[in-house]
Amino acid sequence: MQAIGVIGAGQMGAGIAQVSAQAGYRVFLADVAIERATAAKDGIARQLGRLVEKEKLAAEARDVALGRIEPVGAFEPMAAAGLIIEAATEREDIKRAIFAKLGNVRGHQAVLASNTSSIPITRLAQASPDPKRFIGVHFFNPVPLMGLIEVISGLATATETVKLVETYAKALGKRVVHANDAPGFIVNRILLPMLNEACFALGEGVATIADIDAACQLGLNHPMGPLTLADFIGLDTCLEICRVLHDSTGDPKYRPAPLLVKYVEAGWYGRKTKRGFYDYSGDTPVPTR
Ligand code: NAD
Repeated sequence: MQAIGVIGAGQMGAGIAQVSAQAGYRVFLADVAIERATAAKDGIARQLGRLVEKEKLAAEARDVALGRIEPVGAFEPMAAAGLIIEAATEREDIKRAIFAKLGNVRGHQAVLASNTSSIPITRLAQASPDPKRFIGVHFFNPVPLMGLIEVISGLATATETVKLVETYAKALGKRVVHANDAPGFIVNRILLPMLNEACFALGEGVATIADIDAACQLGLNHPMGPLTLADFIGLDTCLEICRVLHDSTGDPKYRPAPLLVKYVEAGWYGRKTKRGFYDYSGDTPVPTR
């Protein structure tokens, strides 16, 4: 496999495109419009530029990697890809529409993968042209720094599909863990109840944003507090994962915290909108409560 496709050029898609290009793959990068994919490539250029400044990457290696990334306005060029990874907004209707559209791309033989954080792979596979060649490939944020990929097989996923993804992950230098197609897989099943609980604690006035984060950072030895991490992931994504966990298990322990719902309704999604539990408009994040 020499080329991959990435659909959804947000924080995850851009990261996946970057590490794939650095690992030697040609990358077709798509979003709702080519302008967004081009803007994501500009962001990747800035990221790689910082590595060059810090002398962690040679300028030539940056240029070669960037030269491998091609923003595209339609899915047709992805017919040349061996693997297409969907990293669009965490909404099942959006993802299903993408896989259905990929099914109409003439001549494509690619394995289709979703970077979904929580939507069942077996269910998503039903929207794809061939469930045997469909799989979950769950990266972590920020993709260039995080060394893990959760690989999730759906009921119909073929062994060759798993092998292809393992080979790709190895080329990226990432450690693979295999998770069953259970809600939240491994990491988010464990993480999201904690982030959601931090939102409940804040909403119930247990402590301030700064103190909740300091308590977990210093008291649990976590690298960052839960509200900082939720802002980093995206509060919209966190809410969708909570909803999937709640809807698919029926277990009230996963019900989203009202404050999390309210922030998303306000359009305060975290870092990506410059406002979440912290305000990111200045040089350093400022707690908002
Ligand atoms: P994001 O909001 O940064 O990016 C989503 C991108 O998808 C946007 O650029 C949007 O324009 C694009 N998009 C929406 N509809 C589209 C369509 N029909 N066709 C093409 N592109 C479309 O979100 P993100 O944080 O990058 O998350 C993307 C996926 O990765 C989600 O499934 C999320 O659950 C998953 N994920 C996120 C994290 C995280 O920490 N943020 C970690 C692992 C997995």
